[in-house]
Amino acid sequence: MKQKKAYKYRFYPSDEQKHILAQTFGCCRYVYNWALRERTDAYYQRGERLYYEGTAQRLVTLKKQEGTIWLNEVSSVPLQQSLRHLDKAFRNFFEGRAEYPTFKKKRHQQSATYASNAFTWDGHTLTLAKMDAPLSIVWHRPLPDSCKPSSVTVTRDEANRYFVSILIEEDIKPLEVTPKMVGLDLGLKSMVITSDGHTYGNPQFFAKDEKKLAKAQRRHAKKKKGSKNRAKARLKVARLQKKIADRRRNYQHHLSTHTIRENQVVCVESLSVKNMVKNHGLAKAISDVGWAEFVRQLEYKAAWYGRTLVKIDKWYPSSKRCFDCGHLLDSLTLDVRSWTCPECGVVHDRDINAAKNILAAGLAVAACGEAVRPGAVKTNLGKPQRSRKASS
Ligand SMILES: [Zn+2]
Repeated sequence: MKQKKAYKYRFYPSDEQKHILAQTFGCCRYVYNWALRERTDAYYQRGERLYYEGTAQRLVTLKKQEGTIWLNEVSSVPLQQSLRHLDKAFRNFFEGRAEYPTFKKKRHQQSATYASNAFTWDGHTLTLAKMDAPLSIVWHRPLPDSCKPSSVTVTRDEANRYFVSILIEEDIKPLEVTPKMVGLDLGLKSMVITSDGHTYGNPQFFAKDEKKLAKAQRRHAKKKKGSKNRAKARLKVARLQKKIADRRRNYQHHLSTHTIRENQVVCVESLSVKNMVKNHGLAKAISDVGWAEFVRQLEYKAAWYGRTLVKIDKWYPSSKRCFDCGHLLDSLTLDVRSWTCPECGVVHDRDINAAKNILAAGLAVAACGEAVRPGAVKTNLGKPQRSRKASS
């Protein structure tokens, strides 16, 4: 099965490359923001819908105008790609998956995407359009042999680090079938609790980094606005934030890969994180453990390796139901970590009981292809797996 897979590496540009990239990022940002305004104005002022093709035609005119002639100094390919990114942002908005597109800011992460006609890959080195020398990439893991990258995205993050993400189509072989199955519950104390009683990902793991971050943020706030020291302090905050995000992401990848490798069927609760984050007391804990990202990773890795991920309705009462006798409690507040079933007398660890229920509900779905509550359970059983663009 062919799957699109992105490989991300850090690289260290030369001064000249930094200069070319800065120019390219600037032009991409300009074109993106310009096209966003064009599309917004077309709609709100004239009631017209402007799409990718329309903006691409207007870009040709824009590049001929005196005020914006500098757009010709960079490769034209990333500029067109910016229009495509914007088009995708609009599609996500129209289809209800995202908010209305917003303007890109200089201070945020910068990026430029090069389609295959704007870079060369010789099997060892990667050279971007308008550059004489290849990028100096840290190959912390090899690209698959004789792969053909379809596009390359270069980013500079808020901590001034440069990354290149290389998109390739890859033949991924499904893993050997295993009889093991598992239910996962999202915990607050641990990120994941499994139906066989394992816990993973203690948030304390990140506590030290967070203390450092809080200190750096206080320092930044005290510096005079517009001063060089403030800019320096801001960079320090950005670096720490990135470091924390990287560690978290690495951990999630490690755990999702492990889970998918070990189990044929993985059952999870599809929590609506957006709604839960609004509940303030829980907010930090839930954003921290990054459940949504974790489930996303499980989903595409399951597709890659021929595993089944079953998502259970978020309203399924997995915590309040006794796994042993099915008795349903009226309520169970979040601070109750263990409870005794009034019906059968079994003492439950809150999270393990929930994970067991999730597994049972997931298997019920898997066995008969029916919803536990009709129409409310998502399952990818029996449906063809779509190819997914994702990084691992
Ligand atoms: Zn019971």
